[in-house]
Amino acid sequence: MKKETKIGDYEDQRNVLLDDLGKYEEIISDFLWAVMLFLITADTFTGYVIEHTPFKWHTFFVQLAVFVFIIAVSIYRMLKIRKEQLVPGFKYTLLKVLDIIFIVILLSTMNYGHYFYFIVLLPIISVCVTRGFSTSLPYLFIGFAVQASAFFLSKNIPGIMREYEVNRYNPAFLMLIGSVYIASLLFLKLLGVFNKQFRQSEQDNQNLVAQLGRKYAQLEQARIEKQEQFDKLKEVNIQLEDTNKRLTSSLAEFFTLQQISQAISSIFDMNELLQFVNDVIIGVMGVSTSNIALYGIGGNRLKVQVSNIINKRELAILTDNINSPALKEAIDEGRTILNNAVDPDQYDFTRGRNVRSLLCAPLKVKDKTHGFVLIEHSIPDAFDDDNVRLLEIITQQVSIAIDNARLYEQLQEYANTDGLTQVYNRIYFQKRLKEELDHAEQQGYEVSVILYDIDDFKLFNDSYGHLFGDVVLKSIAQAVKESIRKDDLVARFGGEEFIILLPHTGTERAYEKAEELRKQIASLTIEDKNVIASVTVSMGVSTFPALADNDASLISSADNALYEAKRSGKNCVKIASRLRSI
Ligand code: GH3
Ligand code: MG
Ligand code: MG
Repeated sequence: MKKETKIGDYEDQRNVLLDDLGKYEEIISDFLWAVMLFLITADTFTGYVIEHTPFKWHTFFVQLAVFVFIIAVSIYRMLKIRKEQLVPGFKYTLLKVLDIIFIVILLSTMNYGHYFYFIVLLPIISVCVTRGFSTSLPYLFIGFAVQASAFFLSKNIPGIMREYEVNRYNPAFLMLIGSVYIASLLFLKLLGVFNKQFRQSEQDNQNLVAQLGRKYAQLEQARIEKQEQFDKLKEVNIQLEDTNKRLTSSLAEFFTLQQISQAISSIFDMNELLQFVNDVIIGVMGVSTSNIALYGIGGNRLKVQVSNIINKRELAILTDNINSPALKEAIDEGRTILNNAVDPDQYDFTRGRNVRSLLCAPLKVKDKTHGFVLIEHSIPDAFDDDNVRLLEIITQQVSIAIDNARLYEQLQEYANTDGLTQVYNRIYFQKRLKEELDHAEQQGYEVSVILYDIDDFKLFNDSYGHLFGDVVLKSIAQAVKESIRKDDLVARFGGEEFIILLPHTGTERAYEKAEELRKQIASLTIEDKNVIASVTVSMGVSTFPALADNDASLISSADNALYEAKRSGKNCVKIASRLRSI
């Protein structure tokens, strides 16, 4: 397509050149009448005014008629032929011939016409210049033929052709006319050569331009093909880069997940595991902050478990507002929140912190929501679908780990707890006692135990029934559990016997506590249906290492003290006597 357009352009240029030559020819044709008018005026003035030759009306009318014809032809050419340009047709040739005829006739009627014979050549020269020697040659012959006719007429119609009247039978004049035509022939030949050369070089130029045009078109075609190849290569390269990027990120994801699953199987401490996962998320996602918040067991309040926020003020904003309804609602429904243009009014925990993007994925297993992972960035539009996918995969794995850990914790709890009273059982107590004494031995602090037994419980059961007895056991256990310190521990030791472990406590303090508890139990009224009752307990206190050297002797000595209390009338506290290792 382009190739054709180019060559067309060059052809247009060539036509413009030919048009230019045509224009010169037109100018000569257009102003021929002016030249003739000037010549007639000059001839008439010279003949009649200066030389006083007699005025002839018929000559004047012939001149006037011919001149009118010349004007008419010029106007016709200007208005009609010019518009039909540029290829010369019959009308053009006819007008040209008329030009020549009129000029010859006019010259023949002039007093000094023979001096101006070259004027005849003007239209013929213009043809030669624009259309070449061979085209102009017929016009020259026409000129000569008209000349000969004029000569013939001058002989036969005397008085019209003034020139021939004056110079009739003058051989010198005939020679002059003949020479003018021979010279004209040579001159036209010369012009023809120039025209030919010009045309040749014009043709060469055209060929060259056409050739260049074709070459250009070929080169353009080749360039387009190269460009297309380059574009294709570029596209393939982009695809490869994209694939490479995806592979790299898949590899990173795979590595991350492998790290997390390894951590899940090797880190047993839940907090340590969450800390590790949080660090991995920061590393793989390149986020500003990452936080993990969990619901407490059985609770509905979220608590930030791990966070990499160091700034205390910012951490406080997060932890104080972590139960944001916008977050809770979404994670309870198991939805991931992706917000790349964070509005602090929507998320209170981002207020005053430089958070522009956030991504929050729930930690959920089946219908149990444990909490969420919340990652944040200080720039807007920080997260894309890949981040969402990766975080969701991570949270799925972590959720299962949390779920398992919580189940395990619950199982442990069941195994360590007494089913009726919901305080620890004897096995757990003994395990804890051993650990505590080891610790106490290393660190050099005292540990006391209070062993207590309900007074006359057999009788109580007999009076109020076994079921009510159970209620009493539960109530007392609960009351004691609520009255001891966080680090103390109460366990059901057997039947209606309980034991309290008091770390960092000497005999005196333990006795005081026992007394306090004894009074508290005694004042406790237990209600069930229509029955209201209360019981008393007897207590034995012993202390490591002051009164016993190890766990067995500590319990044994406390048991002795309890026996002592029973013997002393019950509802009282007795301190153990020192007992050696048993
Ligand atoms: P003492 O003042 O000397 O301790 O008299 P006691 O009647 O309490 O005697 P003892 O401690 O030997 O009695 C144990 C009773 O505790 C026997 C049993 O009926 C009751 N008991 C033990 N376990 C349970 C229990 O799980 N539920 C109920 N209701 N009673 C229990
Ligand atoms: Mg008992
Ligand atoms: Mg008893």
